[in-house]
Amino acid sequence: MRGVQPDLFGEFDAEQERAEQLLRFREAHQRPQTCPACGVTEPNGFLLTNNHGARLDVETLTVQGIPRPDGLCTAQWLVRNHISYAAQRDDAEQLERDAARGRELGLDVDAIVAAARGDEGPAR
Ligand SMILES: [Zn+2]
Repeated sequence: MRGVQPDLFGEFDAEQERAEQLLRFREAHQRPQTCPACGVTEPNGFLLTNNHGARLDVETLTVQGIPRPDGLCTAQWLVRNHISYAAQRDDAEQLERDAARGRELGLDVDAIVAAARGDEGPAR
């Protein structure tokens, strides 16, 4: 018969706590998550990270940071660039499509178009 090994350093408790933390993270990661920059809610944490660059923190289970220094998420940054490109080329069809998406993502489309056409300084 094996005796009970005392957990002198709390290693078992720490391991158990870590396993429970990971389980809570996985459950939270599979639920819909909202991007703090654009406000779009994705079906899960994977799509939040993939499409917006934000991520769910393992310990706090809160959505953390947008890695870009201008505060735009990945989706906003890409669409902003598409709007600029369309405006510079005077591609009305593409501009209409990208402007609609930009407004959904909370971008100031008029400012982006003006900046792309050289009317103003750089837009966010
Ligand atoms: Zn976003």
